Amino acid sequence: MTQKEQNETLTAQYKTSRQENPDPYDLNFSSALKQTKILVINCGSSSLKYSLFDTSNPVPLMEGLIEKIGTSASYHKIKSQKSEVKKEVEVPDFPKAFSDMEAALTDTSIGAIAAFNEIDAVGHRVVHGGDKFKNSAVITDDVIEKIRQCIPLAPLHNPYNLAGVEAMRNLLPDKGAVAVFDTAFHQNMPERAFLYAIARDIGEKYHVGENIRRYGFHGTNHNYVSLMAAAYLKRSVRELRIISCHLGNGASICAIDHGTSVDTSMGMTPLEGLVMGTRGGDIDPGVLIYLLNSGLGVKDIDNLLNKESGLKGLTGLSNDMREILAAADAGDARAKTAASLFCYRLRKYIAAYAAVLGGIDALIFTAGIGENSAAIRGRVCHGLDHIGLAISKEANERAKVQRGHIEEISAVGTQIKILVIAADEERMIARETLHALALRQTMPTPKTTRQIPILVTGCHVHLCEADFAVLFGEGKTLTKKHQQRQPQSFIAEETLSLAGPLGTIENVSVVAPFKRVTQVEISRTEEFKLGVDAPLRLSGDLDGAASITIVGPAGTVKLNNGVICARRHCHMSPQDALSYGIRDHDVVSVAASGSNKDVILRDVFVRVDPNYTLELHLDTDEAASAGLTEESTARIAAIQSRAFI
Ligand code: ADP
Repeated sequence: MTQKEQNETLTAQYKTSRQENPDPYDLNFSSALKQTKILVINCGSSSLKYSLFDTSNPVPLMEGLIEKIGTSASYHKIKSQKSEVKKEVEVPDFPKAFSDMEAALTDTSIGAIAAFNEIDAVGHRVVHGGDKFKNSAVITDDVIEKIRQCIPLAPLHNPYNLAGVEAMRNLLPDKGAVAVFDTAFHQNMPERAFLYAIARDIGEKYHVGENIRRYGFHGTNHNYVSLMAAAYLKRSVRELRIISCHLGNGASICAIDHGTSVDTSMGMTPLEGLVMGTRGGDIDPGVLIYLLNSGLGVKDIDNLLNKESGLKGLTGLSNDMREILAAADAGDARAKTAASLFCYRLRKYIAAYAAVLGGIDALIFTAGIGENSAAIRGRVCHGLDHIGLAISKEANERAKVQRGHIEEISAVGTQIKILVIAADEERMIARETLHALALRQTMPTPKTTRQIPILVTGCHVHLCEADFAVLFGEGKTLTKKHQQRQPQSFIAEETLSLAGPLGTIENVSVVAPFKRVTQVEISRTEEFKLGVDAPLRLSGDLDGAASITIVGPAGTVKLNNGVICARRHCHMSPQDALSYGIRDHDVVSVAASGSNKDVILRDVFVRVDPNYTLELHLDTDEAASAGLTEESTARIAAIQSRAFI
């Protein structure tokens, strides 16, 4: 077999092996170590919602809702794989609610489980994790204390979520439990999205204890629907730009860039952003000062903003969109205005987030209104054709989603997919519980600790032939100055300047060979100098990339969508990949030792190609902050996640 044939065989082998994982996002628990039963608890101020998952079964074994606890109108809804019932019951307090839940789960006539301790793990929805939790957390005394510290940020939710945690600790003291936060998914938003432009020291000055900033909510579901959309589109979530509209009684919208929430409409509290059932969303803070000065108390304002605004406030009728739409159809002017305002605000946010993301691949509608109201979806998308959104009237009206299924409602042939996806926070909480407690197969460990050479890349340009001719003149060629480790790549003698809106960088390296399209790679520091916002991307992934002017000795090129901040990555040949036991597009953690410290670099993307030589690429900022140079050593410490098809 020739070298070329051998390389082709190895490449084909990767492609096949990548299809081995049927559920890369593990939404159907395909990585569970064994049959595992996970109870998901969502404990509110007067309600207890629970779902029992079995990892060998795609449908929950049982779901229940005990509502209006502590009132004379309490009831218990139970849905099993066999039946669905709603009964009026007396539930004066939470201990009774938990004992009713236990009785229902172990009721032999329904047949979910025979004994309560068959449950292997418990996952809890916790609304606010402040900036203390970036991920789901296994519950310990310390975690409970930190959730308690976040109570001032979510006084209407966290105390009850914690009561649920304590109750389950008493009922199943020996089982692992995990807190899954509504805020965690948004914890990687950039500062420009999460900071409010008020005095930096406001928190310290007034001893308010917590950082005053945007936290965002509904993160569990925004994350879930983005993973569902990626699986549906048969693409990795890491290469998609998604806008998710969670439109329930509470509503929020989220811009998701390559799997990370980069902005969301709810703020420090769930009051900001969209028009909701009883919350009005964005409002001039001056209105509140005006009301305070006019004699309204803080409690009145709290009540006004949380309970008496939004659809209910606008109509004086109801917070239920179904009733608003029916009234509007019957000619009620206020209901018409409310529906119109709801759609207008959402449309504004969609266009704003398209700008944040620099374009979109998918727009998702989820939760009560998003899943059920074709009228609202249609009105929201109307007039957004200038950003490439076109809805199919027929598909929109036909769409009926069930959990775990997706309806596509975009017009045939359009680039941006419009998807309706049923919310399923419970499934996501069960998945998080499985992962946090490591009740799943761990990733294989790398087969070798072989060292990887490091390349620290400064600001540089890859040119296409046409742009090269404009910048340096017809008939010129690139002169080799310095051969790089990648056999086809060298740094040229020729240099260029980059001119951004705020500044210029001179003597920028040109890296050969020519590429199909011109691409500029800069670090965060250089972004600031130039005055551009370059997204963190892999080479070649230029949709929505920043723009810049490239200045050469013979001419100037205005580059649109070509500037990125390169995501750290590792090049290797198929032979290297085989020796490590990893595949093209896997994500790995790298352990590196610099002159003065050892670091772990997570989220290193693996690129396998027969033409590559083993090499870790970091930009100057990353290398400097990690204390690494090209003399430092690195090795693959762990495989973080496997590649998607
Ligand atoms: P929550 O935020 O309370 O979880 P849901 O996601 O259950 O809310 O959504 C509840 C809201 O969905 C209701 O207030 C109602 O306005 C809306 N809704 C449900 N079905 C429809 C429908 N067919 N048309 C319009 N709105 C609907």
